[in-house]
Amino acid sequence: MVITTAQFIKDYRTEALRWFADDLENLSALQQYQALALVVKGYAAQNWAKSKAHADATQQKQVYYFSIEFMPGRLLASNLLNLGIKDVVDAGLAKLGIESGPVYAAERDPGLGNGGLGRLASAFLDAMASTGMAGNGNGIRYRYGLFEQRFVDGYQVEVPDDWLRDGYPWETRKENRAVIVKFGGQAELVPDQGRLAVVYHDTDDVLAVPYDTAMIGYHTGTVNTMRLWSAEPTPERAHSLAETARANAITEFLYPDDSDTSGRELRLRQEYFFVSAGLQSIITHFKRTHGDIRLLPDFVAVHINDTHPAMAVLELMRLLLDEERLAWEQAWQITVATMSYTNHTLMAEALETWPLGLFQDLLPRLAQLAVEVDRRFRARYTARYGSVTVDRAAPIQNGQLHMANLAVIGSHAVNGVAKIHSELLKTSVLADLYQIFPSRFSNKTNGITPRRWVQLGDVPLATLLDDTIGATWRRSPQALLALNKYSQDPDFLRRLTAAKRVNKVRLAGIIKDTLNLTVSPDAMFDVQVKRLHAYKRQLLHVFGILEHYLAIKNGEKRPPRVHIFGAKAAPSYRYAKAVIRLINAVAALVNEDPDCQDQLAVAFLPNYGVSLAEAIIPAADVSEQISLAGTEASGTSNMKLMATGALTLATLDGANIEIRDAAGKDAMVVFGLTEQEATAMRPEYSARERYEQDPVLHRIVDMLTDGSIPNIESEGKEIRAELLDYNDTYFVLADFADYLAANRRLDALWAHPEEWARLALANIAASGKFSADLTVQRYGREIWRVLPEHPV
Ligand SMILES: *Cc1c(COP(=O)(O)O)cnc(C)c1O
Repeated sequence: MVITTAQFIKDYRTEALRWFADDLENLSALQQYQALALVVKGYAAQNWAKSKAHADATQQKQVYYFSIEFMPGRLLASNLLNLGIKDVVDAGLAKLGIESGPVYAAERDPGLGNGGLGRLASAFLDAMASTGMAGNGNGIRYRYGLFEQRFVDGYQVEVPDDWLRDGYPWETRKENRAVIVKFGGQAELVPDQGRLAVVYHDTDDVLAVPYDTAMIGYHTGTVNTMRLWSAEPTPERAHSLAETARANAITEFLYPDDSDTSGRELRLRQEYFFVSAGLQSIITHFKRTHGDIRLLPDFVAVHINDTHPAMAVLELMRLLLDEERLAWEQAWQITVATMSYTNHTLMAEALETWPLGLFQDLLPRLAQLAVEVDRRFRARYTARYGSVTVDRAAPIQNGQLHMANLAVIGSHAVNGVAKIHSELLKTSVLADLYQIFPSRFSNKTNGITPRRWVQLGDVPLATLLDDTIGATWRRSPQALLALNKYSQDPDFLRRLTAAKRVNKVRLAGIIKDTLNLTVSPDAMFDVQVKRLHAYKRQLLHVFGILEHYLAIKNGEKRPPRVHIFGAKAAPSYRYAKAVIRLINAVAALVNEDPDCQDQLAVAFLPNYGVSLAEAIIPAADVSEQISLAGTEASGTSNMKLMATGALTLATLDGANIEIRDAAGKDAMVVFGLTEQEATAMRPEYSARERYEQDPVLHRIVDMLTDGSIPNIESEGKEIRAELLDYNDTYFVLADFADYLAANRRLDALWAHPEEWARLALANIAASGKFSADLTVQRYGREIWRVLPEHPV
């Protein structure tokens, strides 16, 4: 949009007066932010209404991305960027004498997700709007987001995330679009005009109220909707306090776990709640705009992001059979043509199952439909594929409903999130279904939004890119390839190093303010930021730090390094919390040791989330992506870090493989077992043997329990037991020696700053490939069958 600074200032003053009955100058930074957000929301409102009207008028196919998690990050700067008015607004703030930093920082970062899954969902919403696709999010408006993490004596302490306390200016409550969601009771089948109709008795009804947030496209004029549902008591009668609390409880909090929520009734309620509300509102809108329900798949695509919304298959069947009165075969064909599913994990224990009994109690009609889907699936495929295969592929097994199986059976398309992951799906967790439905399977490697991570997060780099190759890359990420022309240009390489240094100085300031730790921006910044999980192997990184520590104690001199961690552990995940305490204890040991001064430092910044990621990622020299090969489905922090010029220290896992293929073999430091090697080794693997045979490893494992790292008595024992008694599930000891060797290669490179910068350049130049804009276009072409109006 086009607006002058003067007009903006006038609008801003008006909004401040309207909301706070005061002059801008007298408002707190929070209030200044709130007033500004309302101005910006107003600017986007016309295009929001227009986009909806345009989609209806042109019968544009709509994508609905169902996800139990979203992590949009702060929206102010991103909305201004996408509207094309960030410079105008910044100039206006300056003119008003308002410091912009505190205003941007006053925005709460909605933590409505745990990690990569939720962040991906939000990146896709941004990307769909930015490529001109009609794509909407459908999820839950949790009253409390993912806990805020603090450290007390090195322990993780969880504080409730009261993100709505000051209100959320970007959302709009749409009470006129509220729907009823029914739980429990009985679903009785009664004869009705020659077929059966369903009559519900004694249901527990909840009102689902949508809160819509505009998803503003980058310079496209497209404004889509993220619709998050909030649970409330139904309005038709007075409710007791207990009833009210029961209704509200459904959307009270986000499960702080990316796995292990099985069997929890409230989680099941959450899943059905947003799925049913979303589908009801989609069908209501569809009938208003298109009429004939049989055309649904021509105009609507529903995407199931991981299995949490997989019961959408059953709920759509319910709506088509019971409400729209279609016959089973027709309803099923429409459902399959409408649905598509993304799998995010290979770990069998993380695949969601629900006891059918719980389904029968809580969702009796869906349970009936699940049994019928199961019966028909078995009847149709057993003769051809045999009962062994069909049993393993069926939705119901031993009284458990297998959500991944249901999702594959009820969708026309299934994808994994990186090439290796999509291949492994076919041979492991979904192998039987792949036999039956091979043509449904495809790969869609994840992506990130370079707008947030580079344009907003790394201004020094973005400015340098503009100066060097022009600004086309801002719209068309593949244009970054032009950077390769400068790989022999010493002046450019010096400027690239200087841009990185600006970010490092800024992060050093944050580390000082947060941890009271002084680190040198001239040291190598070695970053690992992601959920704390055994398979991601933060422990291997810690072992690398301890080896460096021992080397320093031996008088050895290496390039100085600052190790930067960000990671939350699920509150119930004991091992992950032990590793957090270990990292903090190693940080205390190292940071307080005078021998380590200017050589080695460890900074574990609390409360990792999108906002902290924006501060850390552009400052990274090294990106640690060191999961055991075959365990990380894709990873996306690997992409964010390459895009800002970090060198990846990586195993051949997830999207690391594709990053190496894109940036070139030498641009990544690879180590460790391949997935095939790890799988082959597992039967004969002995962690204890490794421990006995490698004196350095022996020494480091002993440090866990011999008192050389203070304050980790029980944690050290627990980690040691996982390694030696439980035989090191994730092969930390197996990959240790090669990890050290890879680190020595990094040290050697660090001695040649120009060569280092050249490799950073190769990463930045290749990073456009991982733009979520391209990813959603692939989904659009091959799965959703929608075309972008503004392709990149
Ligand atoms: C990108 C991102 C993730 C995903 O990180 P991985 O290393 O891919 O697991 C998790 N949390 C936040 C806040 C992110 O921005």
